[in-house]
Amino acid sequence: MRAKLIVGNWKMNGSRAGNARLLADIAAGLDSARAQCAVCVPSPYLQQCEEALSGTPIAWGAQDVSVHGFGAFTGEVCAKMLSEFACRYVIVGHSERRAYHMESSEMVAQKAKAVLAEGMTPIVCVGETLEEREAGQTAQVVGAQLDAVLELLGTADVAKIVVAYEPVWAIGTGKNATPEMAQAVHAHLRAQLKARNAEAAESVPILYGGSMKPENAKALLAQPDIDGGLIGGAALKAQDFLGIIHSA
Ligand code: PEP
Repeated sequence: MRAKLIVGNWKMNGSRAGNARLLADIAAGLDSARAQCAVCVPSPYLQQCEEALSGTPIAWGAQDVSVHGFGAFTGEVCAKMLSEFACRYVIVGHSERRAYHMESSEMVAQKAKAVLAEGMTPIVCVGETLEEREAGQTAQVVGAQLDAVLELLGTADVAKIVVAYEPVWAIGTGKNATPEMAQAVHAHLRAQLKARNAEAAESVPILYGGSMKPENAKALLAQPDIDGGLIGGAALKAQDFLGIIHSA
């Protein structure tokens, strides 16, 4: 049985004072939580997370990484730097990166590989736009996004990733996929993993992301192939994030 994993994606939000309160409140409310949890924060706050969260059950990570190693790449942050802050996770291929920074699936695959090479876990995001869903292309779109990553990784590395299904039309919109809609895509993704590495497919967590809130989390997380959540807006309020964690 796969343990549930709830990951907060803070996006470009936070302040030193606000983070300190949020992290302390989450840590204080975790008591009887059965789910694993993590926060993926803007890179300047990784040191603060390392200081505040070491010794707690909360892991931390980053939201993006360069495909390059050290060098003349102004503004970029490489995987080795993230590993120096004891990141466990790095989100790659979030739809906001794909849309606003023109990241291709091949680039996302290179990022996943760079993260794995430094001993961290990539959270590989896939998801379709509303137009693609309405055109009946969901399986094809998410399938191609995941395949690009699986093709670059060796068979053994398939076991070391986390996948996040995030329908673009549900992110930050308040419209979540129904549990049945999400489950259908998760099952498709799991079958795709199985074709590469049957054993790994049983253990790779597939998270749902897209307006997950305490009110809808329980029904989504009850689906057999939904192993957790990637949470945007609701991860910025301790009570909401904890509500989701306790639903798992
Ligand atoms: C996200 O950005 O990964 C996300 C799921 O956002 P939200 O929960 O706000 O829809």
